[in-house]
Amino acid sequence: MTGAKFASPVPPGAGWPEDPAAPETPVAKSAAGVRRIARGAAVTRAGGGLAALDAAISVCRACPRLVAWREDVAVAKRAAYAAQPYWGRPAPGWGVESPQILVVGLAPAAHGANRTGRVFTGDRSGDWLYAALHRAGLAELPTSDHAGDGQRLSHTRIVAAVRCAPPQNKPTPAERDTCAPWLDAELAHLEPSVRVVVALGGFGWEAAWRAYQRVGYERRDAAAGAPKFGHGAEVELTRPTRGASGGAPGSVTLLGCYHVSQQNTFTGRLTEAMLDDVLGRAVELAGLGPEPPLSA
Ligand code: SF4
Repeated sequence: MTGAKFASPVPPGAGWPEDPAAPETPVAKSAAGVRRIARGAAVTRAGGGLAALDAAISVCRACPRLVAWREDVAVAKRAAYAAQPYWGRPAPGWGVESPQILVVGLAPAAHGANRTGRVFTGDRSGDWLYAALHRAGLAELPTSDHAGDGQRLSHTRIVAAVRCAPPQNKPTPAERDTCAPWLDAELAHLEPSVRVVVALGGFGWEAAWRAYQRVGYERRDAAAGAPKFGHGAEVELTRPTRGASGGAPGSVTLLGCYHVSQQNTFTGRLTEAMLDDVLGRAVELAGLGPEPPLSA
């Protein structure tokens, strides 16, 4: 893929394109370790900021089942990729550091981000997502094949609610909760600029809603209860006073979109037009206005 030889999984700091980690990056080995390192990364902007958080996420080993699965897949490989090294580590968030649009997905795919190291990259789901981002003027290229391929996002960052590839794409509730502090810490960095969260599927919706609640946001129409996921669903969240994180008042729109899974795209449950409509609405809500593609 890169012309260089890498072990699978790729050791931190081995020269893999876009690897945020170094051999000395602290490794979380338990839920308590995730909380401790994430809390430190959330408040130490001067100590490396988002890059330090990405690095810590990318070497995390807190969930034994997921660590074993991601590494087993990286060694066994899919036949089509047998000659390639596999990342075999958690996929950190990817995109700009102060985005207006945050896309929240479920988890890396075993032969997608778990192979390439970049979220939603190297599989059919990613093909759909990046092509749509490109049509919306938010991605330089219509494809995202591998780390170091020249892809670049504008105004946008993509994260997974759970950072490691899970068997059958199904993390357990305990794994979801263990990974949640990474998303909270990332939100501490991103929340001042983010105006719209595009939640892919019910899992991404729930993860985003819970994370925003933890940093002090509530539904503007609080009497309506917890927001329900649906394609095109739109819910405004506000933090009217200084929240638990000490942040300033703010507001953000949670925007639902069917997940770009092959199950949804193959069956036509999610069409390109439906995805374009959601991203177009996100661009509008973010105040970015219609733009030509980045490469135009
Ligand atoms: S799922 Fe999250 S918490 Fe669990 S090992 Fe992966 S990065 Fe760490």
